[in-house]
Amino acid sequence: IRLVMKKDYILRNGLVVPAIGFGTYKISDDKEGEDILVDALRAGYRLIDTATMYGNEKMIGRAIRRADEEGFAKRADVILTTKVANEDRGYDSTLRAFERSEKLLGSNIDIYLIHWPLSEGIATNWRKVNSETWRAMERLLTEKRVKAIGVSNFKTRHLEALAETAEVLPMMNQVEFHPGWMEPETLCWCQNHGVLVEGWSPLGRTRMFDHALLRGLAEKYGRSVAQICLRWALQHGVVPIPKTTSPVRMKENLDIHDFSISEADMEAIDNMGIAGESGLDPDTITF
Ligand code: NAP
Repeated sequence: IRLVMKKDYILRNGLVVPAIGFGTYKISDDKEGEDILVDALRAGYRLIDTATMYGNEKMIGRAIRRADEEGFAKRADVILTTKVANEDRGYDSTLRAFERSEKLLGSNIDIYLIHWPLSEGIATNWRKVNSETWRAMERLLTEKRVKAIGVSNFKTRHLEALAETAEVLPMMNQVEFHPGWMEPETLCWCQNHGVLVEGWSPLGRTRMFDHALLRGLAEKYGRSVAQICLRWALQHGVVPIPKTTSPVRMKENLDIHDFSISEADMEAIDNMGIAGESGLDPDTITF
C-alpha cells in the first residue's frame, strides 16, 4: 500500500503526530546531548523518540524543559515517546518502569511503546508476557497517564497474538524501515488495522549511502541520499525518525516536503532487494 505524504497523522484516538520524528539512540545523557536535542527542537522537530534502553531520558527531559522555557517549542506541542525495556515486560513491572521513566524525564510521557515483543523460540510463554505487558499499557491509557500506546518491532504474528486478548489495538508500531528493508507484510497489516508505522533507522544508520540506485536517484532529484530515503518512507505512509547530531543535517532531514519521488522510482526502490539491514530480528533477540 502506498499512502500519500502528509505533514501530520491522526492516530485512531485523535492524537496528532508529526510525519517526521527525531531519533535519539546514542545521543548521550549529558550537556552535549541536551544541546543536540535543543537544536533539534529549534530546527522544528516535535516528535521525539527515546527508550529506557537508551539511558538518556534525563537529558531528554531537560532539553524539552529548556526549549519550553526559552519559548521556541512549547511542551504541549512536543510529543514525547519512550519505551518499556525488555527486562521490564510483564504487568506490574511495566507499570513500575513507566513511573521510573516519568521520574527521569521529569515530565509526562505522551506515547508509550513496548520496545520488543517476546517471541516464540525465545520463551514458551511469549504470548502471555506480551499480553500482560499490553494490559498494563491499556491501563495507562485508560487512566489518561499517556495519550497513546503502541508497540515496536512487532511482526504480524506478534500483532495477531496480541489482538486475541487486547481491548485496544496498538496505535503505533515502530519497526526498522529503510530502502532495502521494508517488511511489506507488517506494513500491510498495520495499515489495514489503522496502526501508524514509524520507521527506525530510516537511513539504515548510513549503510544506505553508497547504494548505486539511491545515489543515482539523489542525483536525478537534486537531493541527498538521506532525503531520498526519508521521502520514500513518507510516500509509504511511514513516519521516519532519523537521528543526527548536526543542526545542518537536522534541517536537511526535515526538508523533504517539496519534492516527490515518481511511482516508477518508488517501485525501483521497493524492488532493490535486501540491503543495509541491522540484523536485529525480533524473533531471535535475547537481550
Ligand atoms: P538513522 O537515523 O538511520 O541514521 C543515523 C546516522 O545517520 C547517524 O550516524 C547520523 O550521523 C547519520 N545521518 C543522519 N542524517 C544524515 C544526513 N542527512 N546525511 C548524512 N548522515 C546523516 O539510525 P538510527 O539512529 O539507528 O535510527 C533512528 C532512530 O530510530 C534512533 O535514534 C532511535 O530513536 C530509533 N530506533 C529504534 C529502534 C527500536 O528497536 N525501536 C532500533 C533502532 C533505532 P550524525 O549524527 O553524525 O549526523
